[in-house]
Amino acid sequence: MKIYNTMTRRKEDFIPLENGKVRMYVCGPTVYNLIHIGNARPMIIFDTVRRYMEYIGYDVNYVTNFTDVDDKIIKAANEEGVSPEEIAGRYIAECKKDMEALNVKEATKHPLATEEIDGMIAMIGTLIQKGYAYNSNGTVYFRTRKFDEYGKLSKKNIDDLEAGHREIKVSGEENKEDPLDFVLWKPKKEGEPYWTSPWSDGRPGWHIECSVMSKKYLGDQIDIHAGGEDLIFPHHENEIAQSEAANGREFAKYWMHNGFLNIDNKKMSKSVGNFFTVRDISEKYDLQVLRFFMLSAHYRSPINFSAELMEAAKNGLDRILTAVENLNHLSENAVTEELTGEESENVCKINTLVEKYKAAMEDDFNTADAVSVIFELVKLANTTAGESSSKAYIGELKKQIVTLSDVLGIIAEKEKEMLDSEIEILIAERQNARKEKNFARADEIREELLERGIILEDTREGVKWKRV
Ligand code: AMP
Ligand code: ZN
Repeated sequence: MKIYNTMTRRKEDFIPLENGKVRMYVCGPTVYNLIHIGNARPMIIFDTVRRYMEYIGYDVNYVTNFTDVDDKIIKAANEEGVSPEEIAGRYIAECKKDMEALNVKEATKHPLATEEIDGMIAMIGTLIQKGYAYNSNGTVYFRTRKFDEYGKLSKKNIDDLEAGHREIKVSGEENKEDPLDFVLWKPKKEGEPYWTSPWSDGRPGWHIECSVMSKKYLGDQIDIHAGGEDLIFPHHENEIAQSEAANGREFAKYWMHNGFLNIDNKKMSKSVGNFFTVRDISEKYDLQVLRFFMLSAHYRSPINFSAELMEAAKNGLDRILTAVENLNHLSENAVTEELTGEESENVCKINTLVEKYKAAMEDDFNTADAVSVIFELVKLANTTAGESSSKAYIGELKKQIVTLSDVLGIIAEKEKEMLDSEIEILIAERQNARKEKNFARADEIREELLERGIILEDTREGVKWKRV
């Protein structure tokens, strides 16, 4: 499998640190607002990378954070007259709802910056001890020039950076040894959240969060570190400096960055008015359509969002869903079980298409080509499956369309809603089980119904149920 590595600016063979395992960290959003459709791009893209890795058999440890302490959160809290915790808590909950609707898998671990402060204080301590950081009146800075390889990811030259910095004087940062040094810890201002540290009551800088959370949940060295391309500099450059200085080894093997999402070929901007939250889109479309739209372009290219392209995504997705629905219908009415000779030949065609899909994904996750392969399968289904097809052939077509869609996080087959009569039968069976003191079976039925979205309530008048 080839991955484009921002560090080397080339596609490289993916070789995991540990056989069969992938350790992956993706920078998450700062939670002061509903997420916008640009934020959804890395979520969808890197979730797809994870799903593909799992499909081919890797065990993926996927960590992504929430930045829940930050100037923007404090500002939003002050504007609303509520606490920063309330703002962060609210928008984490909203973000999780959006992620679920986008079918983004739950991370193995989803740490919050505010719950990892001890680790940050420890890493800052190590950096000071090793001479990579210094305390200046309660603010701790990273000594950028001390890290020889600074600039290796963004390919920036440290002297050019210095020249640029000399003209910009940032107030409150006069005590830096060098304009290039960046903040690891800063003292609180009146009314701000703070934690006690050896240097001051204050809070961490943004970059140190990710170095610490990645180390804690994935170890000193990881396979893949990912995020949007705006994070290459300074965020990821600074993460590398911190982690490699503190841990004494290479931080991440592969650096992946998604391109930006624009609207009507312009940068998305609140002030210009071309700005959509994921929630805005959910009012008009099933969010699967947004996901499908994102996968229609290569993740490293910019993607343009427009009403026409969303309609095209909706039509494309509908074609897949309709094909699966037809296959289900044909399967229910199929009269023969076994493959015929001609069908066996078509199964070979299916297998060739599956290989083509894999080849597209293994070439730096070319999801656009992978989607085209799914359309080829749909075409094969529409032209070769009919009333005289065997159950085995229809089953094979359906299995591949559903599985390959699922690898992209697209649900091609909605579970059918249970009929009221089916629910009543299961409830009666549960009542019987309870009478016979078979509580294990009774619980099993309750769980089964819950999974299908049915909640049971035992009342004095008997069992009541409702759909969630
Ligand atoms: P932020 O909350 O600004 O740190 O953003 C969270 C993630 O969304 C980061 O990986 C950003 O690079 C990414 N991101 C922000 N805006 C866009 C955009 N317009 N297109 C693609 N990715 C974006
Ligand atoms: Zn980060």
